[in-house]
Amino acid sequence: MAVLGHVDHGKTSLLDKIRGSAVSEGEAGAITQHIGATAVPLDTVSQMAGSLVKPEDFDLPGLLFIDTPGHHSFSTLRSRGGALADIAILVVDVNDSFQPQTEEAIDILKRTGTPFIVAANKIDTTPGWNPQEGAPIQKTYEEQSQRARSKLDEKLYEIIGELSERGFSSDFYWRVQNFQSNIGVVPVSALTGEGIPDLLGVLMGLSQRYMKDEMAIDVAGPGSGTVLEVKEERGFGATLDVVLYDGTIRAGDTIVVGGANDPIVTEVRALLQPRPNAEIRTEKRFDKVEEVRAAAGVKIAAPDLEDAMAGAPVRVVGDRDLDEVVREVEAELADIEVTTEEEG
Ligand code: GDP
Repeated sequence: MAVLGHVDHGKTSLLDKIRGSAVSEGEAGAITQHIGATAVPLDTVSQMAGSLVKPEDFDLPGLLFIDTPGHHSFSTLRSRGGALADIAILVVDVNDSFQPQTEEAIDILKRTGTPFIVAANKIDTTPGWNPQEGAPIQKTYEEQSQRARSKLDEKLYEIIGELSERGFSSDFYWRVQNFQSNIGVVPVSALTGEGIPDLLGVLMGLSQRYMKDEMAIDVAGPGSGTVLEVKEERGFGATLDVVLYDGTIRAGDTIVVGGANDPIVTEVRALLQPRPNAEIRTEKRFDKVEEVRAAAGVKIAAPDLEDAMAGAPVRVVGDRDLDEVVREVEAELADIEVTTEEEG
């Protein structure tokens, strides 16, 4: 699943809080860090969510959070890599309500038919708020003064109103019976962790319902992925953080990547994954691997990646005709450009 929303509304903080509280549960394997994604196993989710998530109620491995993709990366991930971006969390700052990128996200969610919930973030900034670190929302709500409660209600109703103007009926998540026809609004604070147990509970429920057929992934074929980010890395130059949603990619493979001008044809110099427990400051933050299979995140080092674009397709050529793959990437880029214009 992926987190969308306006800049500064707290997407990064929310993911950091979920990762942080998972890790502080203190067990090995509490999370697994991928390039561009974090996996939180069912047991950890359940520990964090308390009575809101009972492991025996789910046959899911847990939750996979894609690190805040740009809206265009999300569009392509959703249309091509379905199962990876099966649900979205739309983060809305309760003080700021709907902003331009909130609108943009809503349009994308609507167009791609993505089920989503709204995390109404920064509830701790409500005047007179008395924070209850990590508490479920109803518990912390009960501890607040009448004044703080009505201030918060006011802000939440504003968000519900904005959603309604855009054709989405929504309500506080605990009143939602059918998440297919109603958007659940979950009040949270990425700072104090209030409401995070509820958020995880709702996400688990939705994941279970919308779970895609994992068997549809063909891991043996040539790899297909989406660029999440183009990043300079010391010693490697421009690299791509890619979510591989189908097939296999190997060191030495010829790949075609969507670029600002023409598609880029290049050869994979190294495939990198985060080194577990690496110190941020140490030189070697990555381990080289020979191959990566879908679904997974991977950093690709290769020559000529400077002009690659976030949201663009990545294709392993394999034993196909290079020109054919280039045309495929061109067609997909044209598609993305059309949707971008529609959004603008
Ligand atoms: P992003 O741009 O959506 O990823 O937003 P960030 O996660 O970078 O957050 C933007 C700013 O809001 C940062 O200064 C955060 O510390 C702050 N922030 C995020 N969530 C909360 C919250 O729940 N409460 C408060 N008080 N501040 C928050």
